[in-house]
Amino acid sequence: MNLTKLEELLKNEPGFRIKQIERAVFKDFSENWNDLTNLPVKLRNLLTGKIDLSINGQIFESADSGSLKALIRLDDGILIETVLLMHKDGRNTICLSSQAGCALGCRFCKTGELGFKRNLTTEEIVLQALFFSRYLKKVNTRITNIVFMGMGEPFLNYDNFLNAVRFLNDENKFSIGQRKISVSTSGITEKIRMLADENMQINLAVSINAPDDEIRRKIMPIADKYTLDELISSIRYYIEKTNRRVMLEYVLLKEINDFPEHAEKLSKKIKGLLCFVNLIPFNGDDIGKRPLIKNINEFKKILSNNKIPFTQRYRFGDDIKAACGQLVFSKNL
Ligand code: SF4
Repeated sequence: MNLTKLEELLKNEPGFRIKQIERAVFKDFSENWNDLTNLPVKLRNLLTGKIDLSINGQIFESADSGSLKALIRLDDGILIETVLLMHKDGRNTICLSSQAGCALGCRFCKTGELGFKRNLTTEEIVLQALFFSRYLKKVNTRITNIVFMGMGEPFLNYDNFLNAVRFLNDENKFSIGQRKISVSTSGITEKIRMLADENMQINLAVSINAPDDEIRRKIMPIADKYTLDELISSIRYYIEKTNRRVMLEYVLLKEINDFPEHAEKLSKKIKGLLCFVNLIPFNGDDIGKRPLIKNINEFKKILSNNKIPFTQRYRFGDDIKAACGQLVFSKNL
């Protein structure tokens, strides 16, 4: 599907007509121009001939956890992955990729191992939401939440990421409230500050993963560029500007950042910040990195004693490689 071509084709149509079409494609999720019976036949035929509404994607279902992974082939043949998490409480969260691959090489992340292919366009980001919206329509439900936690660092594709957020939020399109949209960054501080100044209501998550620079540098090469203090200062700025609570993601890696002293040090570092820690025990293929239950519990106890709010991420979709940091081009379409 080519949205730019669609815009081009409709540029001389009256505003109401464009709205009708946008509604049909991005709100009612029509997959066939002939379903748009409110359009003149001539326009329908033109659209049918010029704009292919199909999306080249394939779904992989998780056997036990209500998660689905889609592999989508883009026009240039590149494959990207998108995940849908269907929660028992009725929420349907979609996890979007912002880049094909990623240049940042975090040590716990499968996507990082791939290296970077290219940035996704706004349209390619939106396409992922459209793909799963069509799937959910068939079971009479919709996307309720969006997280930018798939492949790539959204803040290294800032403009396209932000345009996609605006598109998904547009009430004439997907109409997903800003408060239902979250973005996760590895900590590109100047973009955290920039987002703070956008006057938006989306949720910010920062992948912090370490209580000091030394450990952070071992697991996240981006830490060579930004110190933890700089990062926390940008988070503080974000909170001051938006008054919104920030999620600090902490992937627990065995004997790297999961000791009690790490929990103590982290607590001191973030004390007083309007935030909560999301603990993510590593669950990737390298079982040597999986933390012991005892260490996870001790870590939680220390955060609790220090009155640092935290949650622990539920293991979703391990069997389809849809858990955090496991999005890779793993199958061919
Ligand atoms: S965790 Fe995110 S930023 Fe780090 S390598 Fe993976 S996709 Fe890139």
